[in-house]
Parts: sequence; C-alpha cells; structure tokens
Amino acid sequence: MIVVYVETVGGVVAEVSLEAVAFARTLAAAGGGIPVDAVVCGPLGDAGPKELAEAGVRTVLHADAGEFDVFSGAAHARAVLAAREQTRAVVLMGGGTNRGNDVMARVATELDVAMAANVVAFEGLSPFTVTRQVVGGAALEEVRLGSRPAVFSVAGHAVEATPAETAGPATLTPLAVTLEPGDLTVRAVSVEAVDTEAAGNLKSARVVVGAGRGAGGPEGFGDALELAELLGGQLGVSRVVTSLGWRPHHEQVGQTGSRISPEVYIPCGISGAIQHWAGCASSKVILAVNTDADAPMMTKATYAVVGDMHEVVPAVNEEIRRR
Ligand code: FAD
Repeated sequence: MIVVYVETVGGVVAEVSLEAVAFARTLAAAGGGIPVDAVVCGPLGDAGPKELAEAGVRTVLHADAGEFDVFSGAAHARAVLAAREQTRAVVLMGGGTNRGNDVMARVATELDVAMAANVVAFEGLSPFTVTRQVVGGAALEEVRLGSRPAVFSVAGHAVEATPAETAGPATLTPLAVTLEPGDLTVRAVSVEAVDTEAAGNLKSARVVVGAGRGAGGPEGFGDALELAELLGGQLGVSRVVTSLGWRPHHEQVGQTGSRISPEVYIPCGISGAIQHWAGCASSKVILAVNTDADAPMMTKATYAVVGDMHEVVPAVNEEIRRR
C-alpha cells in the first residue's frame, strides 16, 4: 500500500498533491499494482474525491474533525501515522512543499526511519532508490531508503499531474486520529490566498522581466514593469523583493516562488543566487542587467549588460517606444 498525504487549499486539492499521486502511480506500477490511498486533513470540497479518483487514488482517508480546520504539522503527521496503522503502507509520501516536508519529516521521526525531501525521480524498488534535489535545486543526488516504510516528498513540478489511464471511483472513509497533548501548539493562525491566476501568467509568459534588490525600493519597479508591458511579458522578482514587501509574492521567481521557462528572461538588479536560479534556469535566453559584472547571474547569462538598471531599462523602453 502507498499512502499519499494530500494538501488542500480552501477544500480544493493542491496541484502538488495531484503530482505526488501521479508519482505514486509509477511506484505502484513498479510494485505490480500496489493500491494508492490518500490522507486528507480538514475541509475537502465535493470535487476532491472525484479528482483524486481520476488521479488513481483508491481510498480517501479523511480526517475532518474540527482540529484539522487549520494546518498543524504535528496533527497532520498524526493523521498520516493513523493511515499507516490502518493500511500497513510500505510507502508514505507527500508533496515537497513547506507543509508536505514538515508533515513527512515528523512522520519519519515518529517511525524512526529516514526521509528524502524533494524527490524528482523514482529509480527502483529493490533497493528503494530515488533521486532528489539538493542545494536548492542546483544539484541532484541519488539516495537509497533502506528502512520501511519509505518516507519522502515529491518536489513540485517533478512530474505532471496527469490522470490515471484506468481509474475507478474512490471511497471516502473517515479517518479516526488521536492527537497528543501539544499537537496543536504550533498551528496556522491565518492563511492568505496568493493570486494564482497572476502566478500562472508568470509561469507561462514568453517574456519575463526580472527585478531584484537593485530596484532600490517599492517605487523602483516602474521601468521594469513598463518593459514587461512593451514586450508583452510579465514582471518576476527575487525573494528579497517579496520579503521586503516591495512586490507581492505571486511575482516571485525561484525555489520558493514560480519556476519559469520563458523564451527571454531579463533579470535586472538580481544577483542570481542558486535559489533564484532554480526558478529561471530553464529560460531559453537570459539578458542580465547588473552593475556588478561578476554577479552569478551575469556570468550565467546569454547576454549581460553591465550598468545601472535605472539607466539601462528606461533607455531600452524609449528605444522600443520609438520604433
Ligand atoms: P541581492 O543578492 O542583494 O542582489 C542584488 C543585485 O543587484 C546585486 O547583484 C547588485 O550588484 C545588483 N544591483 C544593485 N543595484 C543595482 C542597480 N541600480 N542596477 C543594476 N544592478 C544593481 N531567492 C529568490 O529570488 N527566489 C526564491 O524562490 C528564493 N528562495 C529561497 C529559499 C531559501 C530556503 C533561501 C535560504 C533563500 C531563498 N532565496 C530565494 C533568497 C536568495 O538566496 C537570495 O537572497 C535572493 O535571490 C537575492 O535577491 P536579489 O538578487 O534581488 O538581491
């Protein structure tokens, strides 16, 4: 049995969890058709069981007591452990998000087994071998999980969330979970939805103009925004920019933001830290603008302009408008 910890946002199954279920199907097939079950904690909309069934899930184990209305890593880990007790699963897995890694690490600790985070490929069952991302996605590492159950998380976008070729209806079964004192001590107090449509536009944009700390402040993005508009593209920013509250999170590119693969990426005032690079490395052409010729983004770029973005970008905009 394979059990997948499924995340939901407002009762809707997260894309990363459907990816994890698609990944689980590969394992299931390699194991001769091992059933795939899912654990869902908290509210689940009517479409959830159908969507999970289409992804290949056989049984949805639902922990829907009031304690699960908000996220708590410890409580959700208890639910996965309860599912493991019930199913005797040999594989426990989730999506490689902050929450998925939090939950699966707690599960592994309770079971005293190893955990592999951010797995991108399944290599074989015996020995149980997977490839995972390390160093913020800059390198890949093959690891063997010798203990049972095998516990791991699947990196976002490692596989596509495709429907199963053959899928029946999934059974929705209540999951009884006994929480321990302290399980709800650390829990989410508020959740702010990101603009997923805008983030989707960024991911699929053919041109992305990037702006980082070099923008200098919240008022420093006008020229980059104008360039993006002139080229029919989108603005993407570094994490420093979103952490400082200069721009919204849905515009962030990188390991903890959107992964982009445009025809042209124009990062301005972005140093090119590996966590940012993890999100833009698939860009076909990179044209970097930076005052520091030795910044990693400049050395990796297809074309590099050494200069102040507040001089270079307006000049480019003017030239485009003139034509
Ligand atoms: P800096 O590194 O400070 O670089 C600013 C650059 O601007 C410098 O190269 C400088 O020479 C140049 N500059 C300054 N002024 C100008 C000017 N006027 N004109 C032109 N150039 C100028 N980062 C991300 O971006 N995305 C992520 O998803 C992400 N996830 C992370 C996850 C983890 C777990 C961790 C630890 C970090 C993560 N980071 C991420 C942060 C990352 O490590 C860097 O701190 C961040 O990318 C740096 O942003 P920056 O390039 O804008 O700023």
